[in-house]
Amino acid sequence: MRAVVIDEPGKIRVTDVPEPEAGPGQVVVEVGACGVCGTDLHIAAGEFPPTPYPIVPGHEFAGTIVALGPDVVGGWAVGDKVAVDPSLFCGHCRQCRRGRGNLCENWNATGDTVDGAFAERVAVPASTCYRLPEKLNFQQGALIEPVSCAVHGLRRLGVEVGERVLVVGAGTMGLIMSQLLIAGGAQVSVVDLAESKLGLASELGAVEVATSTKGLSRRGFDAAVDATGAPRAIEDAFDALDRGGRLQVFGVADGDATISLSPFRIYNDEIRIVGSMAVLNSYGEAVDLVANGTISAGRLISHTLPLDDFEQALELVRSGSATKVQILPSDS
Ligand SMILES: [Zn+2]
Ligand SMILES: [Zn+2]
Repeated sequence: MRAVVIDEPGKIRVTDVPEPEAGPGQVVVEVGACGVCGTDLHIAAGEFPPTPYPIVPGHEFAGTIVALGPDVVGGWAVGDKVAVDPSLFCGHCRQCRRGRGNLCENWNATGDTVDGAFAERVAVPASTCYRLPEKLNFQQGALIEPVSCAVHGLRRLGVEVGERVLVVGAGTMGLIMSQLLIAGGAQVSVVDLAESKLGLASELGAVEVATSTKGLSRRGFDAAVDATGAPRAIEDAFDALDRGGRLQVFGVADGDATISLSPFRIYNDEIRIVGSMAVLNSYGEAVDLVANGTISAGRLISHTLPLDDFEQALELVRSGSATKVQILPSDS
């Protein structure tokens, strides 16, 4: 079958690889759509520390079960349409045993540390499959993973009705965060350097948009979400908080990036800084939120490309001009 293989950082091929086989408890999923995410850029560049090479990337996907390994439970059958939680928690380390599997000491994820879904087919544990609701197509299904990350993030941030929230970055993640926050009754302001992205943020319900925090009339946010991973953006978000505010570092920064924040202000203003890593017990709710229209998934997808155009897809994401770019491997 065809797959994207990153042999080492910077060395990417679309090539023939052996068919995946379903081991015990696993199914093989024929990939209908797989989203390209900022993390894939980091993986391609060697900036995501957990990733070993070579790897087939791709962790935001939906497709059809085409084979079952031995000992699959859950009533799955060939032909079932599924969206797949990429999380592969060990289940027995200290973090897993205290219910924080996303911080697993042996953390793995399909497409991040084991071969993923920028391929015609991928083998995954049946336990990570969720039935794709009838009304969702594969492209909408491939948006469930980023939504599940946002659900986890917002649970960590704990936003209340009426709070003033700043979202930095109007890419896919920023727009998903905004929609969830707005649905929960927050007053959301969105900033992005790219003015072209701000129109959609407004249409989705942001009360104010601007190309920088200085361009906003509103000051003093109760909470801010960085959905860029850019150190300067994180520092600006911190500066935009009111006393008692919370800053969520949600975007994925380079592994060796650093930020400069005032410890006096953290102390004196009781600022809380909250991290959020991937998915934790939030995938099933994300299926519902996409299916019931809380997230208007279709509007977030700006480009779909065949597997062979993977490098072009990376370029589109890198350029910052696209929202969600997806690969449709079965079309190749
Ligand atoms: Zn992702
Ligand atoms: Zn674990």
